[in-house]
Amino acid sequence: SHDRDDSADDAFFPDLPPLLRGHPDIHLRNGVLTAARLAALHEPDAEKAYFVADLSYIYNQHQRWQRCLPEVEPFYAIKCNPDPYVLRLLAALGTGFDCASNGEIAQVLSIGVAPERIIFANPCKATSFIKNAARSRVHMMTFDNADELYKVARANPAAQLVLRILTDDSKSLCRLGLKFGAPLASVPGLLAKARELGLDVVGISFHVGSGCYDSSAFADAVMRARAAFDMGAAAGYAFRLLDVGGGFEEATFEATAAILRDALDRHFPDRADLRIIAEPGRFYVARAFTLAANIIARRAPLDGEHAAASGADGEPVVMYYINDGVYGAFNCILFDHQQVHPYVLAMGGSFHVPGNAPQSTSSVWGPTCDSIDCVCPVVALPAALQVGDWLAFANMGAYTVCAASQFNGFQVSAVVYTTGGGPGAQETRHALRTAAGEGALK
Ligand code: PLP
Repeated sequence: SHDRDDSADDAFFPDLPPLLRGHPDIHLRNGVLTAARLAALHEPDAEKAYFVADLSYIYNQHQRWQRCLPEVEPFYAIKCNPDPYVLRLLAALGTGFDCASNGEIAQVLSIGVAPERIIFANPCKATSFIKNAARSRVHMMTFDNADELYKVARANPAAQLVLRILTDDSKSLCRLGLKFGAPLASVPGLLAKARELGLDVVGISFHVGSGCYDSSAFADAVMRARAAFDMGAAAGYAFRLLDVGGGFEEATFEATAAILRDALDRHFPDRADLRIIAEPGRFYVARAFTLAANIIARRAPLDGEHAAASGADGEPVVMYYINDGVYGAFNCILFDHQQVHPYVLAMGGSFHVPGNAPQSTSSVWGPTCDSIDCVCPVVALPAALQVGDWLAFANMGAYTVCAASQFNGFQVSAVVYTTGGGPGAQETRHALRTAAGEGALK
């Protein structure tokens, strides 16, 4: 391992092709690698799309979490982005982890995280997964139906069960209640069944839905959790855990946190013995990743730059093809209901994109042969933008790279890591160095 100058704006490149790794021309500018320089290298791989992960952003989000919700222990939902450096950083910062499968549990354990720091937060698990988790001493898990109780009674009678209740997710981007969550009316019956089977139910969880822009959903959910706690007491359980799930949004976090704190004060005023956890995903990583993609092809009217700014009815007149698409990082458009907005990272080998450059109505497409592979159906881009130029997309850290496929033989875009040069950079580097499993950090 090298000792780096802590004042330097450093980037490290474990996943980049060796040709590009450590190249002196690669450095950071406003948190984004100087992609045009990469292109100028004329290396075979120089045009590859890549993510830039600013790990200090994640460090700063953790500070923000602790400032606003000091009582609530975050268990990072690794499904959102299981990047190994993200996990190492969060492990070093002391978070827990929400895992949904054998594979995720194995990944978290492999970096030295203790099994007590994991919640198996998938209410519908394969029996073999429950057994496997038990062998790894992962006992905390969610359920929301009676069949799960029978399975758990057979596969891991020592489980610490958390009953996931249904909440109002009508204002969320991803409505998880369509698939999971026990309605309050079914809670007494489920708890009676759990008792009959001799199982330990330790508390209640909910998830207001991923991408939740209605902060009041948390107040409603905590109220329902209170009702479920009372049903627990009636069934002879002394619940000691409340899991408030995920759904935290960067833009509304402070407001959501205030509503959550108020709801806890109202519904759980005496909570000295109550452990409160959460399962944030998006909040930690969405804005930590930027994607840089190269324009590999263009379809424009033959008179090129002199084309009309837009076609009839504002139709795009220029089509750009970039080297990542909806089968790759931009699967978030299909699965996570996102819209993405490109900005010009470099044009004609320069970062100085004139603000008053004439624009054309354009569309942006991924590299595969499928026409569903559309990244932006309509967007204004400089008329002079050409093959070889670079577009960038911010806010690409959540539910992107983790669900990317290699359809048509295109590789998943690699990640370049930085700890940035701003606030928290030094602390982030320190945490990464002391992370469990630090041997893997070069
Ligand atoms: N917990 C569970 C059980 C989930 O299903 C999800 C997302 O699907 C999360 C946590 C993370 O949600 P978010 O990324 O919105 O915080």
